[in-house]
Amino acid sequence: MEAPWKAGDTVSAICPHCSDLVTAQYAHRSVRIPRTRLSVRHVLVSVCPTCDAMLALPRQSMAQLREVSVGK
Ligand SMILES: [Zn+2]
Repeated sequence: MEAPWKAGDTVSAICPHCSDLVTAQYAHRSVRIPRTRLSVRHVLVSVCPTCDAMLALPRQSMAQLREVSVGK
């Protein structure tokens, strides 16, 4: 089983907005679920430190989103 990420962890990632390799930092954000009007607060995502774009959702956050979109 994968070790869960936590806020403050960092990961190297390519930011599509900056077109550059950045050190993304995990943080809690509100995330809008695609194709719905729902948004989920306090979802752990990785964020570009330069432009503040959301880069990736770790698997543990995917599960959180799925729960919300299915549960209602
Ligand atoms: Zn960026």
